[in-house]
Amino acid sequence: MNQKAIHVGCPCCNNKRLFDLSPDTKGEMEIKCPRCGKVISISVQNEEVHAEQLTLKAK
Ligand SMILES: [Zn+2]
Repeated sequence: MNQKAIHVGCPCCNNKRLFDLSPDTKGEMEIKCPRCGKVISISVQNEEVHAEQLTLKAK
């Protein structure tokens, strides 16, 4: 069986390959995009990946 990696793109810039995710990864992680420097929150549920920018809201 071939498990193919899930390519996660950055939602903030056109970095299409921010991160490669193994299909059996579960849960949440944070990664900083090397291109735009934003911190991206990645969550995986039922093999669906959601990536969004973590916003540190000031007050
Ligand atoms: Zn980015």
